[in-house]
Amino acid sequence: MSEIISRDTLDLLIQASYFLAVLLFILGIKRMSSPVTARRGIRQAGLGMLLAVAVTFFLPDMGNYLLIITALFLGSLLAWISARKVAMTGMPQMVALYNGMGGGAAATIGAVALYAGHDYDLVIMGLAVLGGLIGSIAFSGSLVAYAKLEGLIAKTLRFPGLQVFNALVFFGAIASGIALLAVDGYPFELITLFFTLSLLAGITITMPIGGADMPVVISLYNALTGLAVAFEGFVLDNPAMIIAGIVVGAAGTLLTQLMAKAMNRPLSNVLFAGFGDTGGSGEEGPGGTMKETEASDAAITMAYADKVIIVPGYGLAVAQAQHKLWEFCERLMERGVEVKFAIHPVAGRMPGHMNVLLAEAGVPYDHIFDLEEINSEFDGADVALVIGANDVVNPDARSKKDSPIFGMPILNVDHADNVMVVKRGRGTGFSGVENPLFFADNTQMVFGDAQEVAGHFIQGLKSLDG
Ligand code: NDP
Repeated sequence: MSEIISRDTLDLLIQASYFLAVLLFILGIKRMSSPVTARRGIRQAGLGMLLAVAVTFFLPDMGNYLLIITALFLGSLLAWISARKVAMTGMPQMVALYNGMGGGAAATIGAVALYAGHDYDLVIMGLAVLGGLIGSIAFSGSLVAYAKLEGLIAKTLRFPGLQVFNALVFFGAIASGIALLAVDGYPFELITLFFTLSLLAGITITMPIGGADMPVVISLYNALTGLAVAFEGFVLDNPAMIIAGIVVGAAGTLLTQLMAKAMNRPLSNVLFAGFGDTGGSGEEGPGGTMKETEASDAAITMAYADKVIIVPGYGLAVAQAQHKLWEFCERLMERGVEVKFAIHPVAGRMPGHMNVLLAEAGVPYDHIFDLEEINSEFDGADVALVIGANDVVNPDARSKKDSPIFGMPILNVDHADNVMVVKRGRGTGFSGVENPLFFADNTQMVFGDAQEVAGHFIQGLKSLDG
């Protein structure tokens, strides 16, 4: 290439391409904030990444093309296959896995710089160490998070003195990193000790965290991966990596805060409380009995209502019931019923989960409302239809001080005249706590898989039409 154009021109073209890639990342992220523009945003960010990867081949001193292309091919193939196969409910695991790879890649750059004993200045080597530490923690921690969400690790590891052990591993990793910078010549054994402790820290920090908090942890590791990539961007003197890393770090931090806020729990509580591991049995419930009704009867009640507010949750995603549910809603609206959807910020297993599902079924955005927008409307609603949701409508979060979910903002479905709850059985939600809503006087349970029940709802309406 340098024979065709001068080295300076090539440098300029490379930097300009990185700049363009970064612009595409930022524009893409901006567009992802609205469901209307999100698809375009994802394509733009993907294009930015393609450009950044392609232009890297033209960097001076590049070599090992065969190895790089083989790795790119294998990675892309695996990602393509797994992304096509993944169900919406498996998305958090997938994000954890990809995110972990990013952290691992960043840590590897740090490792290469250290093992090669590059004669960079102390600041750059300091950043290599910092990126190595954070990237390693994000890598091994994300893999543990993946394994927990995928059900590969069922138990949460806790033992007396665990926090002290974790602190020892974590500070041991930091101490060996500082020692690396202080001694001459980056000794092999010290580098190995540093990375071993850093990887171990990711595992031991994540193991005790409760299953219900894994999505928050994944988001936190996502932010850390961004930070590690940015630090290693300085090592490689690559502006696209620095800016992309900062953007990911900032976005991940905001997302983590948003989720912690939506559950009304400080991050320290998420990291150290072991929330959601009790796995409630569902047998010892609050006083009272659950009243059961048939899907067709529930449909007829809704057909004669003026206003129905629907609260979708994780179970809707599991059942893939969104299409049938929307068909039912359209039929209700044809009969003059006002139908609205109420979305809790942590309904499902990741932010925006419900919005994506509803968009997939073609629900127009003007029917979908956030918690703050709609919560006051439950008082005037004839029916609140809770379909596959549990924790996000648990009134204990408002009133029961010793409940693990106390303080989490919830959708006030119990304020509606009638509440219909669709779920398969009497089990608890993700947090493992009982829900007194199911035993309330104005609540009726429709037991069954959400998709089947939505089908029965439609049949119920059809029976009305003769
Ligand atoms: P929950 O997990 O609380 O409840 C889902 C309910 O769906 C269960 O009670 C289950 O009952 C029911 N269900 C499961 N499968 C089906 C099916 N096929 N058909 C019908 N019902 C079904 O989900 P929510 O959406 O209410 O709450 C989300 C939870 O996830 C909260 O605890 C939240 O804190 C947590 N979380 C969410 C994050 C996010 O960003 N969205 C991030 C971090 C945590 P049954 O088994 O009886 O059917």
